[in-house]
Amino acid sequence: MSGAKLGHKFWERKTLDQMTAPEWEALCDGCGKCCLNKLEDEDTGEVALTRIACRLLDDATCRCVHYENRHQFVPDCIVLKPSNLDTHAYWMPQTCAYRLLWEGKPLPDWHPLLSGTSQSVHDAGVSVQNRTLSEFDIPEEDWEEHIIEEPT
Ligand code: SF4
Ligand code: SF4
Repeated sequence: MSGAKLGHKFWERKTLDQMTAPEWEALCDGCGKCCLNKLEDEDTGEVALTRIACRLLDDATCRCVHYENRHQFVPDCIVLKPSNLDTHAYWMPQTCAYRLLWEGKPLPDWHPLLSGTSQSVHDAGVSVQNRTLSEFDIPEEDWEEHIIEEPT
């Protein structure tokens, strides 16, 4: 989380597109789940989550190791914005704060903005900490063997 000043419970007072850049960034709870590779069924549109993580995800911290310049390494990593949330919400993790607010739901009490610590996400068992395998190690044709349920 950045040290920028955030408005008191800004997520309850502002719409997503009224938030400042630091507020928008602070919504991310650091679960790491959006950095897992997904398999999408072309016919049904169904999305399955795998334990195979993006090459830049740190399995211990659940953070991107090169977040600021990640597009040099992973050009197609999505930059989530209020304007593209409609397009992406369907595949975002169920507990993702962006998705929850987009659905008009409250943040869970383990969210760092409420608990005051990023550790609460791991303690609640909703992050991918120590659960992933790197996409470097598993060939894409084998990803189907690594489909998992989202930890919620
Ligand atoms: S799923 Fe949402 S809350 Fe979790 S790391 Fe990704 S953007 Fe952040
Ligand atoms: S580049 Fe970073 S933010 Fe994007 S999916 Fe990979 S680990 Fe996640």
